[in-house]
Amino acid sequence: MPEIRKDPVTGRSVIIAAERAKRPQQDSASQESLCPFCPGNEQMTPPEVFAYRDSQSSPDAPGWTVRVVPNKYPALVKEGVWSTSRRGVYESMTGLGVHEVIIESPEHVVDVAALDEKQVTAVLRVYRGRMLDLREDNRWRSILVYKNQGAPAGATLEHVHSQVIALPEAPEQLRAEIDGARKYYKANGRCLFCEMIRQNTEGGERLVAEHERWAAICPYAARFPFEIWILPKRHAPYFELSPDQDLAELAHCLRDALARLNRVLDHPPFNYLIHSHPLDGAETRHYHWHIEILPKLVQVAGFEWGSGMFINPVAPEEAARLLRHVTL
Ligand SMILES: [Zn+2]
Ligand SMILES: [Zn+2]
Ligand SMILES: [Zn+2]
Repeated sequence: MPEIRKDPVTGRSVIIAAERAKRPQQDSASQESLCPFCPGNEQMTPPEVFAYRDSQSSPDAPGWTVRVVPNKYPALVKEGVWSTSRRGVYESMTGLGVHEVIIESPEHVVDVAALDEKQVTAVLRVYRGRMLDLREDNRWRSILVYKNQGAPAGATLEHVHSQVIALPEAPEQLRAEIDGARKYYKANGRCLFCEMIRQNTEGGERLVAEHERWAAICPYAARFPFEIWILPKRHAPYFELSPDQDLAELAHCLRDALARLNRVLDHPPFNYLIHSHPLDGAETRHYHWHIEILPKLVQVAGFEWGSGMFINPVAPEEAARLLRHVTL
């Protein structure tokens, strides 16, 4: 049973999940016959929780276009007795949560940007559907969708997939964003993210691409070279409340941003994640959901671990200039 431990000094949460050590390595699954995400191998995953599939087909058999299964080696588990424990200075709680894998195509494709716009739209709709479904369980406070693409970015299987985790508390990173945005709102009466979008789209030097409903920018204090954020231009705290039309255009914008990265950096490994407001019923006027795309080009090393500061060798203005002008 995983456990969520609090660091007594900083309050940072860590998931202790010993089962995860049994995860397979990429080599064993790079052949399609052994890939648990390829059609025909459905029995290699736990039973599906959701799929877009032909009406003629049956669950856990071929005939699907996007398929969602529980993570075989979950960081958190859904069933269990909720308990907290305190021993001296140490505090922990049972590692309850949901950890699912979204298989994004029946084809053994390794790059999400290689999927067509219709398929990426379907994937985004599944993200939304899983988040809406997981919201129904009031044990979860925050739902995080993320992708690891390429072994250096942490992917243990290459077949296009992403993951969704429902957490019993909002993670530190998200809380820090919400606190900062709330402070700005209190002082200025405006959403900080809306301000950033305005400043970056008005002839901004950090603009990557602008679409009718979306903007892709390199953030001002980018931690990583070629870091890109995609934000809805209209203020919205929750990804999962995005209407269909927005998701169709988001698929276009996301593919466009990833295609630019692929052109400029020759298919880099990367992570992306969706930051959406937690489900705590609190005021949300100050928070604006977004996608962060983090290419894995540099190692996070001693200085970063020791200081919490990042050294980014590429100015975001230069990264944005290259991404903006690349021929697709
Ligand atoms: Zn596969
Ligand atoms: Zn906003
Ligand atoms: Zn964020």
